[in-house]
Amino acid sequence: AEAFDVTSVRADFPILTERVNGHQLIWFDNAATTQKPQAVIDRLAHFYAHENSNIHRAAHTLAARATDAYEDARATVRDFLGAARSEEIIFVRGATEGINLVAQSWGRKNLLPGDEILISELEHHANIVPWQIVAKATGAVLKTAPVDQAGNLLVGELAELIGPRTKLVAVTWVANAIGTVTPVREIVELAHRAGARVLIDGAQSVPHLPVSLASLGADFFVFSGHKIYGPTGIGVVYLAERVWEETPAWHGGGNMIADVTIERSIYQDPPNKYEAGTGNIADAVGLAAALRYVSKVGIDRIATYEAQLLDYATPRLAAIPGVRLVGTAQHKASVLSFVLAGHEPEDVGRALNQRGIAVRAGHHCAQPILRRLGLEKTVRPSFAFYNTVDEIDLFLQAIADLSGGE
Ligand code: PMP
Repeated sequence: AEAFDVTSVRADFPILTERVNGHQLIWFDNAATTQKPQAVIDRLAHFYAHENSNIHRAAHTLAARATDAYEDARATVRDFLGAARSEEIIFVRGATEGINLVAQSWGRKNLLPGDEILISELEHHANIVPWQIVAKATGAVLKTAPVDQAGNLLVGELAELIGPRTKLVAVTWVANAIGTVTPVREIVELAHRAGARVLIDGAQSVPHLPVSLASLGADFFVFSGHKIYGPTGIGVVYLAERVWEETPAWHGGGNMIADVTIERSIYQDPPNKYEAGTGNIADAVGLAAALRYVSKVGIDRIATYEAQLLDYATPRLAAIPGVRLVGTAQHKASVLSFVLAGHEPEDVGRALNQRGIAVRAGHHCAQPILRRLGLEKTVRPSFAFYNTVDEIDLFLQAIADLSGGE
């Protein structure tokens, strides 16, 4: 395979030439959000300069342009995810809103007292709190599949927790706090064999791993645009056609109806049924530009290159005196969580920022998994395909200097 041309992709991201505290920016906070290529920035500007209109409603030229751009964006997402139909792609604000949609519409309709929702210890708060809320409202019970000390999901134990009352299994593909990649295909099969529905949280997987929803067979899948080089405020919940009947409308309002009287409403078919009100049209179009950009670079090549970065950084960071890696699962993507003896994570984050290196330091909205591993906070560099071995060397030097007491 040809070598990955990181210099060329870096030139596509204007922010990477920013200077921070006298240093060239090193963006290692990709799990929190990613930077945007010029193609996305240009697409947003083009939309507002030439196409801006509300969609579906008005019979004029710009409405047609905006509607075409928005529906093209939906088709682009469909192709990127390998979904069977565009109508299975619902635009929402992000992964959080997508999970809340499933919890509040599907969950309230289908969960009875004593029914079980099974998540894992790896989850982001976005895949925990919505289930707590709907469990409280319906009398359903929230169960948790455990991990081992390295952060591997214990799939055997997950399988044993799936029983006749399990109605939904909701698991992340890549854990944002510690980088574990879970065996989603196996999880989908286990859940379906028991007659349960499956939601996969793809927020951290889509930027790093190829996906084909038609073959994965998940019923629900969510991701956020901003974590895959697209705008903030736009994301997707995929509702497989097989769950449309059991997933009622969530928000009510314009756009989602076919006919309204004061007494009743008749809803549109999906996707409009789940998209009440004026959506985030421009950012959906921007997200499509981001997905086209990622496809052009190639998600397989991205995955291979990022794995090389992680393989390079992991043993070298672990070798620095005082460093404890947090999360050493067999399969990982992008994320390298750690703590440094004698230094609070926030202090490490501030010291790195002094050298222009941006990382997240904190609980990463995933307190249960960090507590499971005996911690409240970690330092979390997370890599993307525009990062380099040279940047990792500067980061390692900064940690080595801190470890040595500088
Ligand atoms: N799930 C995972 C695994 C995440 O990493 C995140 C974002 N950190 C979310 C869900 C929520 O995404 P958002 O805040 O974009 O809605």
